[in-house]
Amino acid sequence: MKRFLLVEDSPLVAKIIRHMLKADPSLEFDHALTFAEAKQYLGNENHEQYSASYIESIQQKYLAAVVDLNLPDAPNGEVVDYTLKMALPTIVLTGSFDEHKRDQMLERPMVDYVVKESRFSYEYVLRLLHRLDRNKQIRVLVADDSKTSRQYIKKMLHTHLYQVIEVENGQQALDVIHADPEIKLLITDYNMPVMNGFDLVKHIRKEVDKNALIIIGLSTHGSGGLSAKFIKNGANDFLSKPFSHEEFHCRIIHNIETMEHVEHIRHAAYHDYLTELPNRRFFYEKAGEALESARARNLPVSLAILDVDHFKKVNDTYGHNAGDSVLKQLAQLIQQSFERFIFARTGGEEFCIMICGLDPQKVSILLDNFRGIVEDYIFLLEATNLSVTLSIGIASGQQYSLDELMSEADRHLYNAKLGGRNQVAYEQ
Ligand code: GH3
Ligand code: MG
Ligand code: MG
Repeated sequence: MKRFLLVEDSPLVAKIIRHMLKADPSLEFDHALTFAEAKQYLGNENHEQYSASYIESIQQKYLAAVVDLNLPDAPNGEVVDYTLKMALPTIVLTGSFDEHKRDQMLERPMVDYVVKESRFSYEYVLRLLHRLDRNKQIRVLVADDSKTSRQYIKKMLHTHLYQVIEVENGQQALDVIHADPEIKLLITDYNMPVMNGFDLVKHIRKEVDKNALIIIGLSTHGSGGLSAKFIKNGANDFLSKPFSHEEFHCRIIHNIETMEHVEHIRHAAYHDYLTELPNRRFFYEKAGEALESARARNLPVSLAILDVDHFKKVNDTYGHNAGDSVLKQLAQLIQQSFERFIFARTGGEEFCIMICGLDPQKVSILLDNFRGIVEDYIFLLEATNLSVTLSIGIASGQQYSLDELMSEADRHLYNAKLGGRNQVAYEQ
């Protein structure tokens, strides 16, 4: 649950946001109608300086503040200075658009400046709040030899709650990226000692593609096609100095959202919608790789197919939703028991597991234990509880291709069904 502080004298705005949050229970807010009330939520005294531990406690309480620029007891945005002093990410709401005032306001390290126009404005604010929360997990590397420039960029990134690491040249950036694969975004200058920005980008792109690490190049206005060269060398985007807070954050957010979008599509392509388990496509790719690597290291290989017995009866008796729920719960059991191995939902009520590095005898014991776990498991459904059993076929041998292992395991599965179901079958 994430909580924000709304400081807004219009009850209507609070009402609209409250209504929108009914569809989004992961966010909640405290509502202060005045500056005075906001102080009660954040601390009564208007000190010049707050202690680090006090600020930390406020940041624990609130993800951000969403504040109205004009309040009866703070007509000139005093509340903004107050929340910024608390180091709270601050989104400013304003009733009217005024270019001059906007530029003036954006000089301050606020998150964004939103004109209250329609429900889209509030949807935008809620999206920003979620963005801020996700940003906490995003690690950004800033490579620039100018300390001033690094500090400037770092401050802007902190405003949006990103984690920031700084380095002074391309070589240091490369070392940090090798040591920390969690870095999602690199902002790099061109002109740096030891290794410049282009060489850095070229080196990185030999190893990491554009969807795994975003690179934004910094170029100076009028520097003769530097920005285009950054892109040609493999950067995702560029920023020309000098840039405004707003421009900076628009570029960063745009690139991060694109990356998240690609991640989402990739996840969907490799996972099963119902159970969230990896799917057939994932299994064929990963199991193929695992088979090759097991051969190279001379490790034993086994492939098991698990099929629910008389599953059609579950659907026929309790309905399709009950069947779905059984599959989801079974998927969780598989995930818990076979975490170390490659597993997937490969068909309707059929799952596959690839096990490398264990003797076939141990594999058959492992799978028979799992068969026993499922047999004893009570599947909790809305209207009733029920039990199901599994038949399992196993094929072993690194001399086989993946297709051969599959058809061999399938043959044994067929025998397990013929033998009376609820059993494991393999080459004796
Ligand atoms: P056997 O013991 O021989 O495996 O019998 P069975 O009934 O399990 O096998 P059969 O292949 O005849 O039927 C499988 C059933 O699984 C039929 C299909 O409707 C059901 N099924 C497949 N995918 C899903 C799904 O995503 N959700 C639900 N609820 N049922 C599914
Ligand atoms: Mg079945
Ligand atoms: Mg089946």
